[in-house]
Amino acid sequence: MSRSNQEHLTAQGATLDDFELLAKISQMLTLMDRDHVLEQVIDLSSQVVGAERSSLMLNPEHSQEWNPVFFKRQQDGQVIERLGKDQAIHFARRVIDKGLAGWVVRNKQGVIVADTERDERWIVFPDGTSAARSALCVPFIYDDDVLGVLTLLHSEPNHFTEHHLRLMTIVANQATVAVRNALLFDQMERQKRQLEAILHAMPDTLLVLDDAGRVLLVNDAGAQILGSSLSLDDLRGRALSEFLANDSVLGIINEIVATPIETGQSWSFEARSEQLRHDYLVTVSVWENTFGGTAGYVVVMRDITTLRDLNRFKDEMLQMASHDLRSPLALIVGYCSLIALDTPEDSPIQEYLEIIQKSTERMKSLLDDLLRVEQIRNSPLEMNEQINFRDLVQTAVDNLRLSAANKGHQLTTELSLDGIPGIMLNPVLIRESMENLINNAIKYTPSGGKIVVRSYHQDDRVHFVVEDNGVGIPKAALPRIFQSFYRARQPGTENVEGRGLGLSLVKTIINRHHGEVWVESEEGKGSRFGFWLPISRS
Ligand code: ADP
Repeated sequence: MSRSNQEHLTAQGATLDDFELLAKISQMLTLMDRDHVLEQVIDLSSQVVGAERSSLMLNPEHSQEWNPVFFKRQQDGQVIERLGKDQAIHFARRVIDKGLAGWVVRNKQGVIVADTERDERWIVFPDGTSAARSALCVPFIYDDDVLGVLTLLHSEPNHFTEHHLRLMTIVANQATVAVRNALLFDQMERQKRQLEAILHAMPDTLLVLDDAGRVLLVNDAGAQILGSSLSLDDLRGRALSEFLANDSVLGIINEIVATPIETGQSWSFEARSEQLRHDYLVTVSVWENTFGGTAGYVVVMRDITTLRDLNRFKDEMLQMASHDLRSPLALIVGYCSLIALDTPEDSPIQEYLEIIQKSTERMKSLLDDLLRVEQIRNSPLEMNEQINFRDLVQTAVDNLRLSAANKGHQLTTELSLDGIPGIMLNPVLIRESMENLINNAIKYTPSGGKIVVRSYHQDDRVHFVVEDNGVGIPKAALPRIFQSFYRARQPGTENVEGRGLGLSLVKTIINRHHGEVWVESEEGKGSRFGFWLPISRS
């Protein structure tokens, strides 16, 4: 810088030293180590204003406690010290409660105390060791909050000037940015560590990819699927396509990543890793960047091997039940009939035999129902017939007319199915579902009730509804009504026989036809059960 320039600056009240100080402090703002930055701030500021002692206190998180970070004793030769925790808290409390720093925090402005002996803002503490006669104190203000206070002291009165105050105010503003940056950086680091801890702890496989299919983030389980010996850090930036040979599942994911997609989309599918010999439920979701574009994909893979094993075990158990339990039950029923033949009619044994026979029949039909649910759930549906839906409804209703009449119910139909095309469905199963709903209405309505069966078509759906004025279903039971073996056992149903499998069967059948089943009910007033099925026009 030329000499004339230097004179010009001096004329404005700022010296080259001041500018150098500001330049140095600005440079330091790029440092992320907060303590290091503040050490430099206190050191440089003290030098520039010729302070003999200085202190810097921080409370960036506005907690209860202020934290004196540093002290500088220039007389002792450039010593910067950090107080121990207890000592620091004691000091901070004292100066923030009563001292000059407290005044600055409350008034949110910098101040010069020209002579400590003549200024009431300066408090001399009984055990104070500072023999300061002048002081300069500036706050670090961010968003109207005081995050810190820098105090500079000198043993001579009138040491600090207005120019010093202006300069230190600029320094404090700069330092505030550094404190904020460091705080944010700290928070980010903390969040990053939290995220890493979560990622390591989670048993699910996680892969975060960018829109070109490169790995952004991966956890231990993810690295296993990638089948690479690279560290998690080294995996970052590698393309998923590099690892396709290592696991069959990766190929499916890569196909999704390779096709153009819309934001907000997600895919779920089950896949088996032949390499790890595990089954997974894989979910691939698109995540968006802040501009709404595709930023990449989040792949979560849940290990469902145990679930699958359990399912297999359940199927085996059911098969065992079907063969190994049904035959002895048939034997019991058969032998009971034989014994009955050989027993005098007036013997009490006849009654016992009847009870055994009835209970055995119940066990047998429970097994039949169970097997039926499993069979419908697992075997392919035969849907190769164009069925006349009106005839199907009519048959179901006709099949139950007698049992409705036996309870004195009025069973009526309201059908609005004119012009409905033939529908592809499994007639046996759909009729069974209709009968199940009508039968429930008959069972759960006290004698002399009214049951209406409605069926109509609308848009691409055909609807089937059964309405009764029976006992109804308590609100709390409604969400569970379609679960296997669930019975609401509401008042009025004590003598109604059932195993809680009918509605679960209906739901399975309707879902397998890509329809939906629903219920509305009010306890004591009645229920309305229904389902719709899609009318496919193919
Ligand atoms: P189940 O009739 O053999 O108990 P379901 O699966 O058909 O089994 O029904 C489950 C439960 O739902 C029944 O136990 C009963 O509490 C309730 N429920 C079903 N239909 C009706 C209805 N129309 N009115 C009142 N409750 C019903």
